[in-house]
Amino acid sequence: MKDEDTSRMPYQLPFPRDAQEEIVIPNAMGGDDRLWVPQAENVWFRPLCLNRSQGYWMNLLKVKKAGVLSRHRHPQPVHGFVLKGRWHYLEHDWVAEEGGYVFEPPGETHTLVVPEDVDEMITYFQVNGVMCYVDPWGKVTGYEDVFTKIDLCRKHFAEVGLGEDFVEQFIR
Ligand code: FE
Repeated sequence: MKDEDTSRMPYQLPFPRDAQEEIVIPNAMGGDDRLWVPQAENVWFRPLCLNRSQGYWMNLLKVKKAGVLSRHRHPQPVHGFVLKGRWHYLEHDWVAEEGGYVFEPPGETHTLVVPEDVDEMITYFQVNGVMCYVDPWGKVTGYEDVFTKIDLCRKHFAEVGLGEDFVEQFIR
């Protein structure tokens, strides 16, 4: 008897009983505008995965204004992928452009600027741990972490009629 070809056979065993559910978001850049959570005037984030068990969040950041967005310090790494538009940091001479990837190492403090000629910027960011907002001398003026993100989502989703529990699907 010839050996059975198993190359197209799905995995036959159950997944680990404690494994969490996957998250699948079709059309993550489009669809219902209510999925974009306002963060400041003309600034929104769209949650993809709010990982409270490991303390990080994956989100799309959308900015529809030019100028300085924020100055912040990252004690932990950040990964970014520019989906639309262009931005740069006052502290570096490179520009993050559509289709480009950026790694922000722990210890980075930078000031994000969207140039005048960019109508809309969208970047996919994975932010680990905490983002500390600081003045030019490093004095902390505020922070964000996965829990402040979840709180913002709950409040917004309740206000737009999706219900505060709508955020649960993004939490792991
Ligand atoms: Fe940053």
